[in-house]
Amino acid sequence: MRERADALIIGGGVIGASIAYNLALRGLKPVVFERSLLGSGNTGRSAGGIRAQFTTEVNIRLSLYSIAFFERFREALGADAEFHRVGYLFLATTPEHWKHFQDRVAFQRRFGVQVSLLTAKEVTARWPFLRADDLRGATFSDRDGFAGPYEVTVAFANAAKQRGAVFQEQAEVGGIMAERGVVTGLRTSLGDFSSNVVVVAAGPETPELVRPLGIEVPVVPYRRHLYMTETFPDIPDGIPFIIDSGTGLYFRKETGGLMLGMVDKTDPPTFSMNVDDGYLEKLVEAALMRVPVMEKANILNGWAGLYDTTPDHHAILGRVDEVRGLYLAVGFSGHGFMHSPAVGAALSELILDGASRCVNIDALSMNRFAAGAVVEETNVI
Ligand SMILES: Cc1cc2nc3c(=O)[nH]c(=O)nc-3n(C[C@H](O)[C@H](O)[C@H](O)COP(=O)(O)OP(=O)(O)OC[C@H]3O[C@@H](n4cnc5c(N)ncnc54)[C@H](O)[C@@H]3O)c2cc1C
Repeated sequence: MRERADALIIGGGVIGASIAYNLALRGLKPVVFERSLLGSGNTGRSAGGIRAQFTTEVNIRLSLYSIAFFERFREALGADAEFHRVGYLFLATTPEHWKHFQDRVAFQRRFGVQVSLLTAKEVTARWPFLRADDLRGATFSDRDGFAGPYEVTVAFANAAKQRGAVFQEQAEVGGIMAERGVVTGLRTSLGDFSSNVVVVAAGPETPELVRPLGIEVPVVPYRRHLYMTETFPDIPDGIPFIIDSGTGLYFRKETGGLMLGMVDKTDPPTFSMNVDDGYLEKLVEAALMRVPVMEKANILNGWAGLYDTTPDHHAILGRVDEVRGLYLAVGFSGHGFMHSPAVGAALSELILDGASRCVNIDALSMNRFAAGAVVEETNVI
């Protein structure tokens, strides 16, 4: 064995960086392996949205913990998360959606989420650029917003490094080593490393890393596109992160322009991150329908990334029964960036104390699938 470490983490995205930071806070010196560059995976392709408007207790609690952390990010990490507390606005166009929105607001309020129900008239009064004649209503929480995924990842990594964590970039993990049901280390392009704690935070690549150990992780990659417009002053800065539930269109302001995405739930799973421009046509159509002034906007560029999606759209977080010392942090289904502060804190508590106190993550264990204890998160974008 070449080197021994307190903990080894596969994946230098926002999740791996947050876990490293939280372990380092508690005195461990973890080593993170990133096959490319820090934050260059799906983290760097994310829209950076942060919201507490979910439909299950565990997701709401992960969000509330994380939003409170984003609010004091500079104090904790000495760096700016670029957190813009502009709110999240969900638009409902069908009676079914509207009924669902009303139910979920009542549920969210039970956990202290500050969220309002708005009429179409109120939407028009506040955001006159939105077409609202077909709206049944909307929900809005002004504590939500967005932040910089790359900035947050680098801040976690720098704070972790200051406390002794090591980030090995352009270092690929080839395999996880285990003996008699206990994890022993990693085979990497830099040689072998040993530890009795290994965390896999490798996004969509996680299933193939753990399969040789006989572990089947139900995570499937789905491609998601984002596009940027050129500077677009016709829509003011400070607008919320807006989701049109009817079409799946979502958009927000980004450095003077607009960032737009749209979920096409008929897309088959793929590892391809090539941009499919056929997709842009559908997005533009949905955008012009909701925001007629977008007719004047010019698309600047687009990119695609992958959602590591689970069958119930909840992350898989925690130990695996098959191999002692092996932990998973995967399957974020499109909301891993916003949950990264809570995920790092919860997983470090699980590793060091045997249980997570900051947020109870029992509902996210891998065992839920075999036990049939699966509850679906339905408010996914
Ligand atoms: C278009 C798009 C929009 C999104 N919008 C939002 C949003 O608004 N809000 C939100 O919360 N989330 C959003 N997400 C989801 C969010 O980006 C992810 O949930 C989050 O980034 C997950 O972080 P991660 O660290 O698990 O994954 P990643 O950032 O993918 O990191 C995993 C890392 O592991 C590395 N790796 C893989 N295999 C190996 C190996 N064998 N050896 C070494 N390294 C390896 C990869 O290179 C990668 O860097 C979006 C995602 C996409 C694609």
